[in-house]
Amino acid sequence: MTIAFAGHPLDRADHVRADPARLAELAHADARLLLLDGLIPRLGDGNCLQWGRVGDAGEEAELVFLGLLDGEALFGAVPEAGDLDPAYARRETWAALGRLVEEELALYGGARSLLDWHARHRFCAQCGQPTHPAKGGWQRNCPACGAQHFPRTDPVTIMLVEHDGRLLLGRNARFPPGSYSALAGFVEPGETIEEAVAREVFEEAGVRVRDVRYVASQPWPFPSQLMIGCHALAEDDSLTIDTTELEDARWFGRAEIAEAMDKGEASTGFKAPTSRAIAHYLLRWWLENA
Ligand SMILES: [Zn+2]
Repeated sequence: MTIAFAGHPLDRADHVRADPARLAELAHADARLLLLDGLIPRLGDGNCLQWGRVGDAGEEAELVFLGLLDGEALFGAVPEAGDLDPAYARRETWAALGRLVEEELALYGGARSLLDWHARHRFCAQCGQPTHPAKGGWQRNCPACGAQHFPRTDPVTIMLVEHDGRLLLGRNARFPPGSYSALAGFVEPGETIEEAVAREVFEEAGVRVRDVRYVASQPWPFPSQLMIGCHALAEDDSLTIDTTELEDARWFGRAEIAEAMDKGEASTGFKAPTSRAIAHYLLRWWLENA
């Protein structure tokens, strides 16, 4: 079982990022540049990412050093605008993601997160003046006040809550009809992962949990979450649903989950999460291990 967007193939080459002379040498006109429409990948033959030349990026382009692939430097150019929408909110993005070959999801996801961060962080959060990319694009510096800004990764817990052989899954109003997934929520300042799981499940479904354990994680580039997949046991199965967060939540038995996972869209029960989401991985993990 693999996790989509995991397994980044590039050498992140921190020593290159910190060496402006080496970076300038690598960013020659014929160096490879990731081709995007905004932040949407342009797909070529075999649904692979398409690459152009750094020389075609234009004089004004802000270049980001993505890393080294087999010793060759790869670059991306910061688009005019970022994109805060969830992945499924833009049909073109979702369609491209469905087609993009599995092996290139991680490369695309990492590049997308970084380029989107640049597009949305052109000004200093401390003094409001324009900032400039530094360290090959893995930092932005403010010349006015000296502040350094770094690309964000926001931790989000996503959890399978189990009671008596059944799992608690929910849906919010923006999900496609019939779709249910694992509950999830951002880790707040001052919280451990375990505390965030317990708080989110209680807030959204009114259920107390114990024995929270980590299962797997996934970088999710819409825009910059680190999804932290967990499993927890519920103290009891009575639900008090917070309808501002969830449209519905209920307990699903093993047979129902197995059918939804095996039949996908053709399931006569609920629709399972897409294979691109860590919730899909977690449900498979549960069916095989729990
Ligand atoms: Zn500043």
